[in-house]
Amino acid sequence: MFLVRFSIAGRNRWGRLQDNEITPLLSDPYDGIELDTRITLPVDAVRLLPPAVPTKIVCVGRNYAEHARELGNMVPDEPLLFLKPPSSLIPHQGVVRIPPQSTRVEHEGELAVVIGQRLFRAKSTAVRDKILGYTCFNDVTARDLQRKDVQFTRGKGFDTFAPCGPMLRTDLDPSDLAIETAVSGQVRQSGRTSQMVVPVLDLIAYISSIMTLEPGDIVVTGTPAGVGPLVAGDSVDVTIEGIGTLSNTVENWE
Ligand code: ZN
Repeated sequence: MFLVRFSIAGRNRWGRLQDNEITPLLSDPYDGIELDTRITLPVDAVRLLPPAVPTKIVCVGRNYAEHARELGNMVPDEPLLFLKPPSSLIPHQGVVRIPPQSTRVEHEGELAVVIGQRLFRAKSTAVRDKILGYTCFNDVTARDLQRKDVQFTRGKGFDTFAPCGPMLRTDLDPSDLAIETAVSGQVRQSGRTSQMVVPVLDLIAYISSIMTLEPGDIVVTGTPAGVGPLVAGDSVDVTIEGIGTLSNTVENWE
């Protein structure tokens, strides 16, 4: 099933997307999916939102060996975690803004997981049932500031640096999906989720050994090789097999 969050007449709601028609949900999907079958809406009539309202966005660095190498890094012994603030989220077709502090902003197409039920100190085998679904994410990064700072907060945390969505696929095996990022129509990153150093379920179990994951939290699973610059006027598409495409444009902050 494909879930979406959308805005219509000033209200934000969840819905099921099927054949370009949205059937609204009666409530948030975390405790089960109940459809409001009295109405359907054409997808073109709504504004799509990121398919989660997270308390935190937990990301992992260097989770594809080839990408670690391209930036001159070793693959770490344990997952290298960092957070992006929820204020960095933008939807499908939202605008990524290049901030004046950076001269090198890059794309990182990634598979994102939206948590469905609370997880704390979970075993990997217990994780799958607690996942709501899978979506596309662009971990936009000011590479110059990331290199300059000891930690990643500034380089990863600017407003608009977390495009996410639009579709959330609930029934999907995340272990071997094609993932591709194109900039202005040219493929820059092409990989498979099977190339992850730490697979999705193990990664989420690891994170839950440190912090409680709440319904709606987003776990972002790392980027394949091929990261590169974004400049004003670019379009950037992150496509994941079985999920769909996240499309955004790029502009400078005024
Ligand atoms: Zn990343």
